[in-house]
Amino acid sequence: MTPSIVPDLIEAFRRSKTMFTAVELGVFEATPTTAAAFSAHANTDHRATELLMDACVSLGLLAKNGNEYSNTPESETYLKRTSPHTLVGYALYSNNVLWRLWDHLPDAVREGTHRWAQAFQMEGPIFSHFFKTDEAMRTFLTGLHGLGMLSSPQAIGAHDLSAVKHFVDLGGGTGHLALAFLDQYPNAMATVFDLPQVIPLTREFTNNRVTTVVGDFFTDPFPSADCYAVARILHDWSPPKIHSLLTKIHAALPENGRLLIFEALVNPDRTGPTSALMQSLNMLTCTEGQERTAEEYGELCKAAGFRESKAITTGAPIDAVLAIK
Ligand code: SAM
Repeated sequence: MTPSIVPDLIEAFRRSKTMFTAVELGVFEATPTTAAAFSAHANTDHRATELLMDACVSLGLLAKNGNEYSNTPESETYLKRTSPHTLVGYALYSNNVLWRLWDHLPDAVREGTHRWAQAFQMEGPIFSHFFKTDEAMRTFLTGLHGLGMLSSPQAIGAHDLSAVKHFVDLGGGTGHLALAFLDQYPNAMATVFDLPQVIPLTREFTNNRVTTVVGDFFTDPFPSADCYAVARILHDWSPPKIHSLLTKIHAALPENGRLLIFEALVNPDRTGPTSALMQSLNMLTCTEGQERTAEEYGELCKAAGFRESKAITTGAPIDAVLAIK
């Protein structure tokens, strides 16, 4: 037997860290360049820089011609800060924050709780950690924006929303989902509801194409709507908080109103897909939540009063559950 999966997984973190390091040092903004020119520009060691850049070539992140390195289509699209599809925010957040939380995964599994106190000496509500500084908040939400660009069009396209007049995205962050909704339903209205420190960023990213409302979704009233969305929200919270949020949404909706839940769905037997299960462990390290199956979301909706629900897997990083009041 060739134990290929084991050596591969032993090495996997080295590949991530190689990419994170090249992103952090600004390699993909400096190309085309040589190792000598880049090390002079970034004040790094010449030999080590060559090792890093050659490793990036082997990972498909750089191309090499003689001594010169240039971006591949993947790094040009996703690893350059100025690209409209950039995932640099998510790479930096993974390197600076998640890496350190995941370092304590064994203790998270022992105790069943997130690792903010252990890794960062931080106590208090989870979003006070994500949003500790303006820069931390921007890195986190810009990262989610990059992921959103990859998934929101498919997520919005999963169910027929042509009857929706007003789409309110609760905890909508930078507004990528609301923008995808308006792209597909230009005659409807879209609003992003989020915490006060987030809304200026929403305005910036949406170029004021959506309405914005400041509020706390656990305690403040919602803008009235016939469709509420929660994207990457339920996986952050404990079952009692999810129940209270869904009950509140149900009460705010008119008869036949819609709730859309966007999360990575876990297979019914809970053994895949790997990306959803990795996200579930990620939620363990940094939130009160986890990922769930379609049936579990159906049960949560039913307990909050919704009469029916339907889940669709999109093939994108998030799937779509529609529940009807
Ligand atoms: N929905 C966005 C997306 O898919 O990219 C953002 C998801 S992010 C994991 C969670 C969002 O919920 C953040 O934008 C955060 O500011 C917002 N949020 C957290 N707690 C909130 C609260 N109590 N009230 C309103 N928004 C909240």
